[in-house]
Amino acid sequence: MSKRDYYDVLGVDKNAGKDEIKKAYRKLARKYHPDVNKDKDAPEKFKEVKEAYETLSDPQKKAHYDQFGHTDPNQGFGGQGFGGADFGGFGDIFDMFFGGGGRQRDPNAPQQGSDLQYTMTLEFEEAAFGKETDIEVPKEEECKTCHGSGAKPGTKPETCSHCHGSGQLNVEQTTPFGRVVNRRVCNYCHGTGKIIKNKCATCGGTGKVKKRRKIHVTIPEGIDDGQQIRLSGQGEPGVNGGPAGDLYVVFRVKAHKFFERDGDDIHIDIPLNFAQVTLGDEIEVPTLRGKVKLKIPAGTQTGTHFRLKGKGIKNVRGYGQGDQHVTVKVVTPKNLSDEERELYKKLADLSGKPLDDANNDTFFSKVKRAFKAE
Ligand SMILES: [Zn+2]
Ligand SMILES: [Zn+2]
Repeated sequence: MSKRDYYDVLGVDKNAGKDEIKKAYRKLARKYHPDVNKDKDAPEKFKEVKEAYETLSDPQKKAHYDQFGHTDPNQGFGGQGFGGADFGGFGDIFDMFFGGGGRQRDPNAPQQGSDLQYTMTLEFEEAAFGKETDIEVPKEEECKTCHGSGAKPGTKPETCSHCHGSGQLNVEQTTPFGRVVNRRVCNYCHGTGKIIKNKCATCGGTGKVKKRRKIHVTIPEGIDDGQQIRLSGQGEPGVNGGPAGDLYVVFRVKAHKFFERDGDDIHIDIPLNFAQVTLGDEIEVPTLRGKVKLKIPAGTQTGTHFRLKGKGIKNVRGYGQGDQHVTVKVVTPKNLSDEERELYKKLADLSGKPLDDANNDTFFSKVKRAFKAE
């Protein structure tokens, strides 16, 4: 099934700001909300709008989407992750409809686990060609002994008697304007709404245990420095049965000895001597996939640029392949042998005085003019 572009779904421009995105979302969410709109395809539309907003309103997800679109190299973006987002979703909508904003979450409601970020450093070639690897990520997992409840097996967490499970307490205060009721987090249960009398020995009542988990990562071919992939559901576990968060793997790519990367293109400087550029030559140029022959025409100047089409890096989103750019750097000889020195002298005699040369004349007169202007 092909997914619609998130910007199209919300009907906003790619450069739309946060407020504009939010406004467009609110309008559409109101229009398609299943409580309001009884059309057959309204729930589907609503879901689509919500999914688009969830991505475009989150700077990290938005950046990722702008980079990879729906073709996440590892997973279908949003597709899988969406199922879980339904949990907190309606609450968010109602907050918006009723202008809640400051409303506290129900401590017993399912909450999505936190996202994790892992930075992976890659060799230049590993990024260019991609690879399969395993990483170890420290993460919290649901305690298997108590299944996340934090209570000793055979016992149950009790509802907090102070807040009656709401996680909040009403505090009455007398002010010059009269009596005011303030709500604050219940200090008996710390907002969880539950009291654990017999704590689980494995997790100490937290319901979570810290583990190192091995996760398989497919590094996509052509990934570049600073780019990231999302592994859906590989983040921290959710609370009260909520879905797990996501794991973002951010890539750092090491510099290469002589290749320089610019997007999907590769740049390389090739040193050549006077004889090669003057007389012309056929040389071998290293590329990522082995050596390639390159013809240097007679009379090539230093700084001349050649393009080896398709010898760059495959685009990470599958949009073709970059090129390799070769720049000629003529190397002036040093430490001449006696024989070489003789030959250069002979060459100098044959070429005549540099000032007689038409090109040099223009060059030197420019220099002279520059000095006069001082
Ligand atoms: Zn436990
Ligand atoms: Zn309480």
